[in-house]
Amino acid sequence: MSTPSDPLALELLDWYRPHARMLPWRSDPRPYYVLLSELMCQQTRVETALPYFERFIARWPTLEDFARAEEDQVVLEWAGLGYYSRARNLLKAARAAVERGGIPHDPEQLRALPGIGPYTAGAIASIAFGIAEPAVDGNVERVLSRVDGRQEDPKSPAGAAALYERAKGLLEGVPAGDLNQALMELGARVCTPRNPNCAACPWAGSCVAEASGSPQDLPNKKKKAPPTVIRAVAGIWSQQGAVLCGQRPPGLLGGMWEPISAACEGDPATTLSAAFLEKTGLKVKVGQRLGEVLHIFSHRRLTLEVYEIRGASGVPSALSDYEAVDWVDAAQPHVALSTLARKTLALAQPQQPELQWLAAEVDDDAC
Ligand code: SF4
Repeated sequence: MSTPSDPLALELLDWYRPHARMLPWRSDPRPYYVLLSELMCQQTRVETALPYFERFIARWPTLEDFARAEEDQVVLEWAGLGYYSRARNLLKAARAAVERGGIPHDPEQLRALPGIGPYTAGAIASIAFGIAEPAVDGNVERVLSRVDGRQEDPKSPAGAAALYERAKGLLEGVPAGDLNQALMELGARVCTPRNPNCAACPWAGSCVAEASGSPQDLPNKKKKAPPTVIRAVAGIWSQQGAVLCGQRPPGLLGGMWEPISAACEGDPATTLSAAFLEKTGLKVKVGQRLGEVLHIFSHRRLTLEVYEIRGASGVPSALSDYEAVDWVDAAQPHVALSTLARKTLALAQPQQPELQWLAAEVDDDAC
């Protein structure tokens, strides 16, 4: 191992070793565990992802076991973790890796797997295989922008290239997996977006942003466009603890199940009656308003008004918009419900106690 070129790397590692959270994919960084954990932790807190990780490795202990899983089962296990395309990509990546004889070491070959971008490739290459490849996520962008006082937008091509080179320089002569994880850990726990805890930071004495007195002002990011606001209605029709749900087509929340719903620009009850008829063939009576669910997707803000369905005539079938329509058993759902669907169903809880299980499972951290 050559001499480290940057003393910041050694200071960071000295801080990381006693402060690192004990996580199963850290104590046993086999490539399959690292792949799983990296896909699960994207846009999700580690604490939220951890029980999912434990369930996945209990059910599918090896990469080969996982590659043989049914997609529906994977999505069902993923339910509540959000961003469901990650579950499908994870399965595709695992199958592609098994076909080629295992998870590749080389970052370029890793990037060729479905759903694996430069960050995830760098994380797997460095943590699982010790290869000196940067893994620059939002945490790392923030920490490096602040310590150097970088003014360029980290998402711009020039800003991203400069950060990649800076991160690469830090890896010289040190264990790459540890250093990458130390950077991520510093960003997640100390150099946080709004309130960086500079007093607890190993880089405080060298940090340009801290010296400026307003470290939270970096990085300089282009302002995001405000989210699109969507209004919609949903109807809860329950019988003996089961709720009539539809399976969404490919796209946003594709494949997930939800109570029958529709976008709404006019009268909610009229819209809901029309939606049930068009989508399921049922003529329904719309009952009381149960409440409202607010849900933020990455770029959309949804307000969903939820109504009780008091009576319906006809046999439900998937006529338009849904891939399938079915009764979802309250005690043992056999399909994947999104967090939005769980929030929606939880509103019915006071009136329909048999749905209490749903309220208990709602997790606001994942969307
Ligand atoms: S000193 Fe403060 S701003 Fe600088 S890297 Fe540490 S926590 Fe972030």
